[in-house]
Amino acid sequence: MVDAHCHLNFKAFNEDFEAVIKRAKEKGVEIIINTGTSIESSTKAIELAQKYENLYAIIGIHPHHADKVEEGWDKEIEQLAKMPKVVGIGEIGMDYYSYKSNGITDPKLQRKIFERQIEISIENKLPLQIHGRHAGKEILEIISGFKDQLLEMPGMFHCFAGNIDYLEKVLEMGFCVGFDGNITYEGLAPGEDTSLPELVKRTPLERLITETDSPYLTPIPYRGFRNEPSYVIIVGNSIANIKNISFEEVEKATSANARRIFKL
Ligand SMILES: [Zn+2]
Ligand SMILES: [Zn+2]
Repeated sequence: MVDAHCHLNFKAFNEDFEAVIKRAKEKGVEIIINTGTSIESSTKAIELAQKYENLYAIIGIHPHHADKVEEGWDKEIEQLAKMPKVVGIGEIGMDYYSYKSNGITDPKLQRKIFERQIEISIENKLPLQIHGRHAGKEILEIISGFKDQLLEMPGMFHCFAGNIDYLEKVLEMGFCVGFDGNITYEGLAPGEDTSLPELVKRTPLERLITETDSPYLTPIPYRGFRNEPSYVIIVGNSIANIKNISFEEVEKATSANARRIFKL
């Protein structure tokens, strides 16, 4: 299986990333992609990818960091984009959800940072890894502005949530859709009206991507503990259950999808 979006580059894994990577491999996770959210964590993702053969990096500024970047940040992202084993630009996007740790960052600023990074992805022919929360309309509008310049396989929306209409529009634009351990949770997330299993059902297998977003979104039965890439197997099993197909089918398709988009 592939964990197409996690954060072993975050502090939560400072002490034991080596053991975590080993455990994932033993469980059958052949590829781990660490995604950056800032210059610092993007640089760390590249460092890890250089150290371990089965690790790759996606680099970018998360919308929450849009108000924290310094002058010249885009030059740094341009440089990082050219480093070996960088396979995409992310996690970039728009986020209108107010978190405990982070209020809503100025939408105008979010948009500016997002658009500039789409330009960088186009210049470097790298696919996108989109982060969005409660901002689907704006994200689609912004991406539409670049429609003719995006790659044939433009990338993926990570940790997908929303409604069927949004999902269909994302699929129409050629994107793949990533799901995490939160598909095992009961009920609806705050502000959502469509359950994640329903969205999994409606996503064709040839567009599905597995991910964990470790250290967050730990699947049941480990919810409450730190998430890690080995649990992407649980995500795969959950998708198999929801779609009523075998785990092997899910594994084969999702791994092929990730390899195709990110040229792994
Ligand atoms: Zn995200
Ligand atoms: Zn993330």
